[in-house]
Amino acid sequence: MAQVETARGPVDADSLGVTLMHEHVFILNEEVRENYPADYPDGWDEDGQVDSAITKLTELTGRGCRTIVDPTVLGLGRDIHRIRRVADGTDLNIIVATGLYTYNDVPFYFLYRQPRPSTGGVDPMTSLFVRDIQTGIADTGVKAAFLKCAVDEPGLTPGVERVLRAVCRAHTETGAPITVHTHPHSGTGREVVRVLREEGADLTKVVLGHSGDTSDLDYLTELADAGCLLGMDRFGIDIVPFEQRVSTVAAMCERGYSQRMVLSHDAACYIDWFPPAVIPRFLPSWHYLHLFDDVLPALRERGVSEEQIDTMLVANPRRYFGG
Ligand SMILES: [Zn+2]
Repeated sequence: MAQVETARGPVDADSLGVTLMHEHVFILNEEVRENYPADYPDGWDEDGQVDSAITKLTELTGRGCRTIVDPTVLGLGRDIHRIRRVADGTDLNIIVATGLYTYNDVPFYFLYRQPRPSTGGVDPMTSLFVRDIQTGIADTGVKAAFLKCAVDEPGLTPGVERVLRAVCRAHTETGAPITVHTHPHSGTGREVVRVLREEGADLTKVVLGHSGDTSDLDYLTELADAGCLLGMDRFGIDIVPFEQRVSTVAAMCERGYSQRMVLSHDAACYIDWFPPAVIPRFLPSWHYLHLFDDVLPALRERGVSEEQIDTMLVANPRRYFGG
């Protein structure tokens, strides 16, 4: 039986159950937090934040969710010690990632560490990703179970392309699946598929994140036909209206693509990108429970069957992780 690494150690793929495929726990800039504590939104109380995350995630398990997949990597403030504390306080499985989140350049740390004859031509970035998957992250003993990178509106800048190819090579070496943040309005999902094919990646092990930001069914169908999973993963970010997000999923189900979609919110317990008080005012549905309380009932109303919902929430995540 296939095993999947989580923040509490390996579990059977069959036990993942209802899985939200793209949720963060903490997104923050550690350097800002450490240097400007007084200016940090609401201050930062480490124990309080861990407790608050445990409360929110425990509430999510109350809706029947068993697993969240957290693509918080370098660039988003990954701290697996903190995640481990949260995971130990809840029954929820938290699957953690390796990779690098940038829309433009690589951090200077990597700029001057290029593939060289002394590294066997291997990108040092790839070696770090592989170590996170095979050995574990820092001294936590927690292993990453998937790879994450981003191709946003600027497209394949040299830095972004380097990260994407490093992710592909770590995938080829380890078999770990991939999640790519894409920007459907500039069609970056297509560029991602082209590079993945060049690198010989298994497209059925790839989530094209944020695909649900578009209602262009032909674009979505093309990427699903390539074998990829479409991340319909920003429910609650109502910059794209709720109705549109729901109708797009229902329409793709009607076209027979429930096996090519996964559902999520891209929410976080805490994100320092905006003052915390602003989020409930402007995006009141952007939280972990929205899918269960609002989205699933709306999908059922539009004719999406229990079997299709199960496929998107249970079977597709299990298959992605090798089960
Ligand atoms: Zn995200």
